[in-house]
Amino acid sequence: MRPRADVALAEWSTMNVGGPARWFAEARTESEVVDALAWAHQRGAAVHLLGGGSNVVIADEGFDGVVIKVDIGGVESRPRDRQILYSAGAGAPWDELVATSIAANCAGLECLSGIPGLVGGTPVQNVGAYGQDVSGTITRVHVVDRETREPAEFSNPECGFGYRTSRFKRADADRYVVTRVEYALTPDGSPTIAYADIVNYFREPYVAAPSLAAVRRATLDIRRRKGMVIEDGNPANHSCGSFFVNPVVPRRQLAAVQAKVGDDVPVPHYTVDDETVKVPAAWLIERAGFAKGYRRGPVGVSPFQAQAIVNHGGAMAADVFALAAAIKRAVLQEFSIALVPEPVFVGFTRSVDLQWLLAARP
Ligand SMILES: Cc1cc2nc3c(=O)[nH]c(=O)nc-3n(C[C@H](O)[C@H](O)[C@H](O)COP(=O)(O)OP(=O)(O)OC[C@H]3O[C@@H](n4cnc5c(N)ncnc54)[C@H](O)[C@@H]3O)c2cc1C
Repeated sequence: MRPRADVALAEWSTMNVGGPARWFAEARTESEVVDALAWAHQRGAAVHLLGGGSNVVIADEGFDGVVIKVDIGGVESRPRDRQILYSAGAGAPWDELVATSIAANCAGLECLSGIPGLVGGTPVQNVGAYGQDVSGTITRVHVVDRETREPAEFSNPECGFGYRTSRFKRADADRYVVTRVEYALTPDGSPTIAYADIVNYFREPYVAAPSLAAVRRATLDIRRRKGMVIEDGNPANHSCGSFFVNPVVPRRQLAAVQAKVGDDVPVPHYTVDDETVKVPAAWLIERAGFAKGYRRGPVGVSPFQAQAIVNHGGAMAADVFALAAAIKRAVLQEFSIALVPEPVFVGFTRSVDLQWLLAARP
């Protein structure tokens, strides 16, 4: 483990913006993670943990510290009770784990097909899509404590999972390096067919009991139509996926949005509980004036879905930031709802503008 100096970061992130890391270390084992942390500690340098870079916006100034790319690979599986326990290194590519589990006919990750990034990033924001999220299958998260540089582990309830969040993103942000994650999957289990897009996919033409492999194919198809699979020929490849989290709002706020748009336009929403609903950020963004395909110089709203901001080539982080702020402002003005960005902002100065962009309240 020998950190390199001045490594360009843009190519390590799917958004493809941002300046260099002052130092960059690739850690292939837990002890290399510890070494890299100690190296940074000795120099009093800040640390950023990098996985696949699919959920980060890196500042144009870059990161003035050590970027540790967590590259611990390897996937093992073993039976436990009536389940198969998959234990994957934080640096294992996420979609390869999903494909491997489905090839073994194990249920639990099928709707999470096609999500970019690495295993270690999945507990951080409780990665989810199409009716599943990783909190449904994670049994244990192995970490190294950045303060003590000692290993530790957390059971599922200890991870503090919520909608696109966990203790690793909130209470303990910047405290732990995820080194390994365990998922308990169900051999020969039924696929999850709960989300409207997946349900409708098998309605026309009708498929009575889709297999796990069929649900993976369906998920990939649906994601492709939304430009959400990173692959050759996708003009929306350079993004962070959904830029804003779908807001969960009190029912009275839903009523206010409904009143604003009029009864002829039903506001799409999903019940969360008796008091709150989730409203699709994409719908709010479009209604606030940012249509799919909207362009502002080198950045724009994805031509496939309004929730993604795309770098069409040559964009700066400042361009991404300015468009995100304009979208947030427009939705706030139109509907009094403060959209919250999903990606992590790396290397940005803690300015008033950044605090405002990240804030959950108007
Ligand atoms: C096209 C596209 C589609 C997407 N679709 C979805 C989707 O459907 N659902 C969804 O939930 N997300 C989605 N995302 C977002 C992203 O893919 C996930 O959040 C992914 O899990 C991020 O993993 P990563 O390895 O790329 O993490 P990075 O982007 O490198 O890091 C994200 C955060 O996790 C931290 N982190 C990463 N690795 C570790 C580690 N080993 N230990 C501790 N902290 C770590 C980083 O410090 C950072 O704070 C999408 C992104 C894109 C570009």
